[in-house]
Amino acid sequence: MAFELIALPFDSAALEPAISARTLSYHHGKHHKAYIDKTNAAIEGTDLADADLETVIAKARGSNQGLFNNSAQSWNHGFYWYSLSPEAQQPSGDLAKKIDASFGSFDELKKKLAERGAGHFSNGWVWLAAKGDTLSIEETHDGDTLVDTGTLPLLTIDVWEHAYYLDHQNLRPDYLKQVIEGHINWAFAAENLARGTAWKYPA
Ligand code: MN
Repeated sequence: MAFELIALPFDSAALEPAISARTLSYHHGKHHKAYIDKTNAAIEGTDLADADLETVIAKARGSNQGLFNNSAQSWNHGFYWYSLSPEAQQPSGDLAKKIDASFGSFDELKKKLAERGAGHFSNGWVWLAAKGDTLSIEETHDGDTLVDTGTLPLLTIDVWEHAYYLDHQNLRPDYLKQVIEGHINWAFAAENLARGTAWKYPA
């Protein structure tokens, strides 16, 4: 069973001007695809050939850095596409309550998410995550992921330069502000929180 490049869950121009169709054509069509292709090539003919992506990541962590990087990046990008929304949304229900309890307010969460994403050194990911009833902002470097760590990922934003450079050049804070204010899929974050187990990359 080979992993597939999942389709974007929105039209490729739907996030403009925060993220352009041109950025997505490279980011999804070239970068994400390359991570998938390299993962498939690395597991072909091994005992991981029929494993799900989450198992590949967990088995590769600490033992096969190349496979870990490519499999974790395959998962992270799928999760990122689902973390994005064409329309601005507001968190509601249990998610909204836990945001207020953990950060003081929704505005404070958005401010902290933007600050942590902008301050992250070099390539990586900024996440909203849950551990028990407490929500937190987490950062991972390069291809690292939360999926196999026991900290529940609710949403992520890619802060690698390839995520924003064509649209915003060096201005990562502008990319983050536009994404956080207008294009976060809070309904997806709420689904992840309610399920209580990590999102699974579609088979
Ligand atoms: Mn990326």
